[in-house]
Amino acid sequence: MSSISDPSNRAFIALGSNLENPISQVRQAFDELDQLPSSKLLVYSSLYRSAPVGRLDQPDFINAVAKIETRLNPHELLSALLEIERRHGRTRKFPNAPRTLDLDILLYDDLKCHQHDLTLPHPRISQRAFVLQPLMEIAPDCHIPGCNTIAELLAACHKQRVERITA
Ligand code: AMP
Repeated sequence: MSSISDPSNRAFIALGSNLENPISQVRQAFDELDQLPSSKLLVYSSLYRSAPVGRLDQPDFINAVAKIETRLNPHELLSALLEIERRHGRTRKFPNAPRTLDLDILLYDDLKCHQHDLTLPHPRISQRAFVLQPLMEIAPDCHIPGCNTIAELLAACHKQRVERITA
């Protein structure tokens, strides 16, 4: 992992894949997050297998969450994540389509924003067990601005199928 000096920001990134060897896609993306400019990968979760949401006739997803330290601003970080997705052959054929790699900024410090291309915290963070479960693993006390605790949010989506697949 590269070194970084202060001042820096903490961001949580959600990773998801359900095409073309999803486990490798996510593991490779951990390395790519570590290589982002002016950034350092601090910790990442186990991998989780989850049922698709919205469009059910597609393979299960592999999901994880990573915490990074970065001096990129939120838009620079978003651009860098979109570039990683592009390198993984990500296409957007229709909403909720299967994907080689999806990278979302869940949280960027305690920032709240709602812009045409970036919403923070991520708008669906509080409703998705496949995000909350790995977040609970690496940052159980993390505060999501405007939301209940992670444990409370997780309890509310206990019917969503998510299972940890690696230690
Ligand atoms: P999708 O890949 O379907 O999740 O959508 C990606 C698009 O969502 C990006 O091009 C962003 O402009 C937009 N977006 C809005 N808020 C976020 C966020 N917190 N993290 C990642 N993408 C976001």
